[in-house]
Amino acid sequence: AEDGAAPVLHQTDRESLRLLRRVGAVDPESLDDYRATGGYAALRNALELGPNGVIREVTDAGLMGRGGAAFPTGRKWEGAARQPALPHYLVCNADESEPGTFKDRVLLEGDPFALVEAMTIAGFATGATLGFLYLRGEYPRARRLVQNAIDVARERGFLGVDIMGHTGFSFDIEIRRGAGAYICGEETAIFNSIEGFRGEPRSKPPFPTEQGLFGKPTVVNNVETLVNVPLILTAGYAAYREIGTEKSAGPKLFCLSGNVRKPGVYEVPFGTTLRELLALAGGVPEGRELRAVLLGGAAGGFVRPDELDLPLTMEDARAAGTTLGSGVVLALDDQADLGGFLLRIASFFRDESCGQCVPCRIGTVRQEEAVSRIVGGRKLSTDADDLALLREVGQVMRDSSICGLGQTAWNAIESAVERLGALSVEES
Ligand code: NAD
Ligand code: SF4
Repeated sequence: AEDGAAPVLHQTDRESLRLLRRVGAVDPESLDDYRATGGYAALRNALELGPNGVIREVTDAGLMGRGGAAFPTGRKWEGAARQPALPHYLVCNADESEPGTFKDRVLLEGDPFALVEAMTIAGFATGATLGFLYLRGEYPRARRLVQNAIDVARERGFLGVDIMGHTGFSFDIEIRRGAGAYICGEETAIFNSIEGFRGEPRSKPPFPTEQGLFGKPTVVNNVETLVNVPLILTAGYAAYREIGTEKSAGPKLFCLSGNVRKPGVYEVPFGTTLRELLALAGGVPEGRELRAVLLGGAAGGFVRPDELDLPLTMEDARAAGTTLGSGVVLALDDQADLGGFLLRIASFFRDESCGQCVPCRIGTVRQEEAVSRIVGGRKLSTDADDLALLREVGQVMRDSSICGLGQTAWNAIESAVERLGALSVEES
């Protein structure tokens, strides 16, 4: 069964939208609608530029990954393109499962042909002839719409062999569905999952650009990252760079949730302040005061009400001790249960740890226990201080876990302790 209603955009000034401009405005099942609104002009330009030219445009545009880590996309593409081992693969990471993240779903459901076109351009640039869309299992509507877009594109010569009449350029896309595990969004766990193994991360390096899916050079890109590519190739890198700031170029999707009046996905240029973004979502409900905003998701950090003039850029977020991550902006007002919220985060990481490495497998359990004791007003029966224990366990997870899950499982809780003064252990 399909999940819920189609997403609704609250942002009504369509003129300002680039990534979301077709969402809700065109029929997502119609290739003709897609083409009538500029679809496939970017692929035509890409075929004229050639693979190196496409990589140069994407590099000069300053495109950075939108999955959370902000790695330069052009550098990633170039790294894979120059690998002699064949074949090359492309993987689109659509296993969107960071708590509070739902932006990719809106793109997948509202503009599926844009993703198919973007994946085709990425395949052309990096020398991949097959792309996998690794899709969150809980997104059945997205699956139907993207599968339709793939099928229609293939029927009309936009996938398959000699794409758009370009002799020798072949590319196709297959969908693989996740089965509910958060860790399967980690790029190397995706490889294991597609290859038929347990979805456990591999150690990096080697990076996927050298040894990825089936041991071959592989580019992994997030949905939103890819959907920026047609914009760059139609507008040109210079026009794209006029959006946002010098170091954080382009438009960005943010997922507003928690105690805001109009939760949803909002598109703004990088550099918009957090205050402006919260205002777009209507601010906190009437009569309440904002207590804190969690930026970047469960692996992110908190911003206080006196810091709302923070420009939303990768570099400003980093300087403020947090990250924009996958675009999570979760507001907590003065009636929110902060302790309960932190316990929920700790339980989430304990649940989702794949258990492969000791620091994360044991650390996430110890972290949840300690947060639970503090929130419940209990103390350790020994002299140990639960906060000191949390700090020690958090640091060990950060320093010695195999993958990002364990490395960041203490981030939000540490930020709440250090920046909000949460979880102070009362003497009884
Ligand atoms: P990472 O920093 O290890 O890597 C980022 C990307 O850059 C990867 O694709 C990696 O292969 C590539 N890379 C890094 N160094 C490279 C090099 N030298 N050569 C070639 N490629 C290189 O981060 P990660 O663990 O892949 O991702 C962590 C992020 O994922 C976090 O910021 C988190 O917010 C985010 N995340 C997002 C979701 C979601 O639902 N969108 C879910 C969980 C986590
Ligand atoms: Fe698995 Fe956690 Fe180790 Fe990552 S850090 S490999 S999720 S046990």
